[in-house]
Amino acid sequence: MQCAKCGQEVPAEAIYCPHCTGDRKTTDRQVMQGGVKGALIGFFIGLLPAIWLLNQYGAVRGIKAIAVILPLTGLATGLTYGLVRAKREWK
Ligand SMILES: [Zn+2]
Repeated sequence: MQCAKCGQEVPAEAIYCPHCTGDRKTTDRQVMQGGVKGALIGFFIGLLPAIWLLNQYGAVRGIKAIAVILPLTGLATGLTYGLVRAKREWK
């Protein structure tokens, strides 16, 4: 893959272009921060319906499992979204 900014060859799995890091040294940190931010938001978005379910149905076995899975799914989704977004903003 080629870097959109400088046109140089970059490994496909690279989060940032090694040729461009000279002028943007905080890039990988910003991507990380975006990921963490997204993960936190996703976690709380997943937590709300989980709490609601617990209130509605009580902490029975199936509900407990859903209450654990929902925030974790939200966290994973938010993390991915945050990383992709931070990556795009940088480009
Ligand atoms: Zn570049």
